[in-house]
Amino acid sequence: MRLSQFHLATVKEVPADAEVASHKLMLRAGMIRKLASGLYTWTPLGLRVLRKVEGVVREEMVRAGAVEMLMPSVQPRELWEETGRWEKFGGQLLKIKDRKEQEFCYGPTHEEVITDFARNELKSYKQLPLNFFQIQTKFRDEIRPRFGVMRAREFLMKDAYSFHVTPESLGETYKVMYDAYSRIFTRLGLEFRAVDADTGAIGGSASHEFQVIADSGEDAIAFSDASPYAANIEKAEALAPTTERPAPGAALTRVDTPTQRTIEEVTAHLGVSAAQTVKTILVRGAEGLVALCVRGDHEVNEVKAAHLAELPDESELATEEEILAATGTRPGFIGPVGLPEGIPVIVDRSAAVLADFVCGGNQDGTHYTGANWERDARVTRVADIRKVVEGDPSPDGQGTIRFARGIEVGHIFQLGQKYAEAMGAGVLDEQGKMRTMYMGCYGIGVSRIVAAAIEQRHDDNGMIWTDSMAPWRVAVCVINPKNDPVVTEAAESLYRDLADRGVETVLDDRGLRPGPMFADMELIGIPHRVVVSGRGLEGGTFEYRARTDAEARNVSRDELFALLG
Ligand code: ATP
Ligand code: MG
Ligand code: MG
Ligand code: MG
Repeated sequence: MRLSQFHLATVKEVPADAEVASHKLMLRAGMIRKLASGLYTWTPLGLRVLRKVEGVVREEMVRAGAVEMLMPSVQPRELWEETGRWEKFGGQLLKIKDRKEQEFCYGPTHEEVITDFARNELKSYKQLPLNFFQIQTKFRDEIRPRFGVMRAREFLMKDAYSFHVTPESLGETYKVMYDAYSRIFTRLGLEFRAVDADTGAIGGSASHEFQVIADSGEDAIAFSDASPYAANIEKAEALAPTTERPAPGAALTRVDTPTQRTIEEVTAHLGVSAAQTVKTILVRGAEGLVALCVRGDHEVNEVKAAHLAELPDESELATEEEILAATGTRPGFIGPVGLPEGIPVIVDRSAAVLADFVCGGNQDGTHYTGANWERDARVTRVADIRKVVEGDPSPDGQGTIRFARGIEVGHIFQLGQKYAEAMGAGVLDEQGKMRTMYMGCYGIGVSRIVAAAIEQRHDDNGMIWTDSMAPWRVAVCVINPKNDPVVTEAAESLYRDLADRGVETVLDDRGLRPGPMFADMELIGIPHRVVVSGRGLEGGTFEYRARTDAEARNVSRDELFALLG
């Protein structure tokens, strides 16, 4: 690629709302441009990086035996009614109508669509196990989109869904995916940890998040300094060893029962203004009541979202630290699940719960649906919630607990039969008996990875790409191309030779002065820079500098090719 024919548009100033390094640098480098809140255009430069990530993800998925397909992003309401998620998914679900007034959503995830596909396509145990994946645009109407593509509303996800006759088979594929994810993030040069994540109300036996370690991360993770133990804070803390499960068949009360209270009633009960209610609810735990309904920017449900939108100032919400200080525990999530009968519950329509018990579940409430919620709901006595602090002994008895911040770039989940049961997806087994399939789901935030990588690898001058993610591996910078035909010809010939060797190279033939040209190449993070100048050519050398080198050095053509492989 010749930069003179490319659209490279670096800028000096970025908007004040760009808080984190990756967002600032992506804007400065001209990788993304904001269209509207949470909606970004990937420029030609940004897209090159995005495609690199996509490529690594695709290669490793295929290598792990998954098969690629592509599902529509627009999904009919009827499918979501089958799992109950049309209502339960909450405000993140963007609902749309066509000209015939038929309702659809823009897919935030694809369990319903793939389960529908599977129930139509798969007939026999002989076809299983199968693992389908796609790399596709998702839309989630995030309550507070921020950090650029890190928490966008429209974003690129790789999502995979596996189908099995037995839970053992699911466990095997889960392990294969775990390993594939580890390879993907390693190839992308990311410092990451796979952390144990809570399966919450969904039941199932395992879930792991892949967290890129970064101070700007929205998630807290706890890990042992002497063993592989690592868990996200919700798992480590809220549902620690004291978790109780109601006895099978125990009566649980849904929140849409007479115990439900309007926000006005809660407000009156607490004697606070409506604007203060959420905050008060959140910090009330110090007095024995607790309701942890808002965690960071996590979506709760539509009513809550509407309620939050009415608040005059969102900053009135308790911060995670405030909640921690007031309740001695971290904000988790309480979704619209049931509590054992007889437990005093005050519930506002926005799913805030004041109770002596909390229920564990997925923060986005996506897993409170289907047939199994009564069976899988777990309740924990607030008094039993154990606060995990740094220095605690690790639960596996090895080493002590340390904390780190993380960016969730991947999430794998053993779904069990939740969706297959709700949607009637089964295959015939060896005896000719219909068996509900077991499912796993495996997500990777392809676009989020780009931002996460920048968070980990940048300096004052810009981004620092690994070869695996760089828009180009090598930049050939031409000094004074317009007036020096010898230099131009030498640069062109070097560029051609590198291309012949399969080295992805960009030729900076824009005719910029060395200062601004080098600044651009550093900003966009090209791993290897080669300068072709008249002076260098006289000495038979090129000037080479790796993005991470302190100094440039002169190298011969052969040395250069050896360096660049
Ligand atoms: P988060 O906790 O950050 O909201 P999530 O748990 O809701 O993420 P999943 O449903 O597990 O996300 O989706 C799989 C992956 O998609 C996540 O691990 C993350 O990398 C990515 N992802 C989710 N939401 C967004 C978003 N708003 N913008 C960019 N990537 C996202
Ligand atoms: Mg989310
Ligand atoms: Mg999450
Ligand atoms: Mg997740």
